[in-house]
Amino acid sequence: MSLNHQKIQEELLDIYYGEKHMTEEIRIHLDTCSECATYWKELDVLKNRMSAYDREVEIDERIIGRAFSKSNIIVERKKNLKDLLVFAIISSLLLALLGLLIYMGYGKSVIIVQIILMVCVPLLIPFMIRQRLMEEEY
Ligand SMILES: [Zn+2]
Repeated sequence: MSLNHQKIQEELLDIYYGEKHMTEEIRIHLDTCSECATYWKELDVLKNRMSAYDREVEIDERIIGRAFSKSNIIVERKKNLKDLLVFAIISSLLLALLGLLIYMGYGKSVIIVQIILMVCVPLLIPFMIRQRLMEEEY
């Protein structure tokens, strides 16, 4: 009978993995044999534990996803900070250049250039915004 138990338990394993269907013969054997019934119960416990494990993995993936989006926000913030820094450096360089030109007696030309810039820069803003939006899309 020992060989038969082994055969039944192998079949139970196949059923557990969904490779075979529970046959009437096995069902009857499970009802009468405590050894195989225990084996089947253990497989069932294992199955429940595995599905619990699957749920935990799912939760972990959600946490990882959240962490990833958080790090994306940090990267985005760093990028914005870098942009701001570059803008500040360029602005102060331009101001220094402006001061130097005024100091050198080019005040009138500077005012003319400033007027031209004041007219031209607002015209450039839509292009700059478009470029920014296109960068964000990629
Ligand atoms: Zn048995």
